[in-house]
Amino acid sequence: MLRTMLLFCLLWVGLSTAWADAPASPLALSSEGRVALDDVVRYLEDPQGLLTADQVREADRIWQQNGDSAFKQGYNRSAWWLHVRITNPDSQAQQRQLELSYAVLDYVDAYVYSGDTLLRQYQMGDRHPFSQRPVESRFFVVPLQWQPGQTLDVYYRIQSSSSVQAPLVLWQSKAFATFENNSNILQGLYYGAMMVIVVYNLLIFCMLWERSYFYYVGFVLSMPLFMAAFSGDGFRYLWPDTVALNDHAIPVFLASSLMFGALFTRSFLRLHRLSNRLDKLLLAFAILGGLTLVASPFLPYHITIKVLVPLGLFACIADMLAGVVAWHRGVPTARYYCIAWGSFLTASVVLALNKMNLLPSNWFTEYSIQFGAVMEAVLLSFALAERINVERKLRFEAQTDALQVTRRLNEDLELRVLERTQALEKANRKLEELSHTDQLTGLRNRRYLDAALKEEWTRCQRYQHSLSLVLLDIDFFKKVNDEHGHQAGDLCLQQIAQRISTGSRWPADKVARYGGEEFCLLLPETDAAGAAVVAERVRAAVAAEPVSIDTGILSVTVSLGTCTLIPGDTSSLEQLMHSADMALYASKEHGRNRVTQFNQLDLCNVAQLPVRKQH
Ligand code: GH3
Ligand code: MG
Ligand code: MG
Repeated sequence: MLRTMLLFCLLWVGLSTAWADAPASPLALSSEGRVALDDVVRYLEDPQGLLTADQVREADRIWQQNGDSAFKQGYNRSAWWLHVRITNPDSQAQQRQLELSYAVLDYVDAYVYSGDTLLRQYQMGDRHPFSQRPVESRFFVVPLQWQPGQTLDVYYRIQSSSSVQAPLVLWQSKAFATFENNSNILQGLYYGAMMVIVVYNLLIFCMLWERSYFYYVGFVLSMPLFMAAFSGDGFRYLWPDTVALNDHAIPVFLASSLMFGALFTRSFLRLHRLSNRLDKLLLAFAILGGLTLVASPFLPYHITIKVLVPLGLFACIADMLAGVVAWHRGVPTARYYCIAWGSFLTASVVLALNKMNLLPSNWFTEYSIQFGAVMEAVLLSFALAERINVERKLRFEAQTDALQVTRRLNEDLELRVLERTQALEKANRKLEELSHTDQLTGLRNRRYLDAALKEEWTRCQRYQHSLSLVLLDIDFFKKVNDEHGHQAGDLCLQQIAQRISTGSRWPADKVARYGGEEFCLLLPETDAAGAAVVAERVRAAVAAEPVSIDTGILSVTVSLGTCTLIPGDTSSLEQLMHSADMALYASKEHGRNRVTQFNQLDLCNVAQLPVRKQH
């Protein structure tokens, strides 16, 4: 009988352990600040979601033991019941915070039992207003209190259109406060950094009106908003009473970051210049992102998120691929772009490795996504600035080139104008020379002489220097023409002109053909004696040698008259001319081939001389 009873007892104990309506040994509270409860959690699926807390507590329920990692059930419609039993072995009352650290669950109902007595009941989850939560936290936190030796059973009922996850952590109040503070500071830093980048780039967009900046602002703004929605900060701080937003915020911001990310990549890398296919692919991602963005408020979360997660993953790969292609093709700013995306992807890998327990859990690994996102945003911001810089440099170089070309053209033009001007001046000089030159003899002509006379007259008048004029006429020239022909006459004129030129040696002396066979020497700063010397030298040069004509040689002489005066108020140019002419006439009168100085003329006789007819 005793044996039978013992056997029955053993069987009962065994059965009760197997069906485990309660853990064999409850978790005893320790002094540790943070205790992960994943390995002490038991769970139960309620596919219809109809069970009540009292019903799940019934003895015949079959509970499953959770493993070492956090409780995870993916996407499903079931309600899930979680149970932890914790006892206070201490002789003092204890209190702890039980945190369920997954923010996006729709319904999280918590029941706290002591034995069969329901002590507390909470309705949390993001389908209930934030103010309903017992502890203000982005996660679901239940405050627990134990009397000495008391055991508490905590039941959670979880139901969500998101994936069902429930990492459970038991915190000592102080450790919890420290953790919350630190985590808030880090999250705050992250949001702050992203907002600074958003505002900064928005200002640049307003100034430059450059499309890349707009997409970039959209992209950088979407990331922290997505993070806020995902981490529960959005519900806590931004829309605590708008429960309906919770369901849609995650897909909306995920879709917008996907869309803006793809648009930014296309515009920043100017992808259409590099690869038409990649450009189209990213455009397709952007359009799909946009469509999901518009549709997600109207579709259930579990559908949009199932579309967005793979879409986002592929879009990320395509964005990165575009960066690598651009880098490979030598786009200067593509390397910053790749490093930026690379840092974000590395951060994602670090977080994944951390979640898979392959990397130790610390601030850096826990917040690697935030670090990565800030790094990415900063680097992309830098890349944008660099691109503007590169483009400005190129524009500046193009402008400099254009300026140089214009300058060179101007120089060419100036050179050509200078050449033309010089040629024109030369032609003008030539023309002037021609207009002042006698065609037959090559001496200056009368027009020149008249001008030169006026000029010298004025100059000598100003300085009160003497001015001499010598007039020369070939003797019996009519006879030369008559006897030897006009052509011989011309030859004769040329040779005599040559001898007159040689006779006047000073550069200031001016020799001109005055009329048909009459010549004139204008001798500035020359007194009467000097003029007589020059006239005599010319006369002698002509008379010394006969001139050669076609038919032989010909002796020719010339008669000369000089006049010298210092121009003054009472004298005139006409007077000078007339006086020289009178002297010439006197030479003719006195036998020709001679020089007569007007200054030495007997003026009484001169008065009787008739005025010579000029040719
Ligand atoms: P006189 O000694 O008095 O001066 O005698 P003349 O024959 O030289 O007389 P006049 O000075 O009056 O002669 C001028 C002549 O000079 C008229 C013309 O036949 C000649 N003559 C004038 N101009 C030219 C010219 O350009 N060519 C030639 N071949 N003869 C000219
Ligand atoms: Mg004459
Ligand atoms: Mg003559």
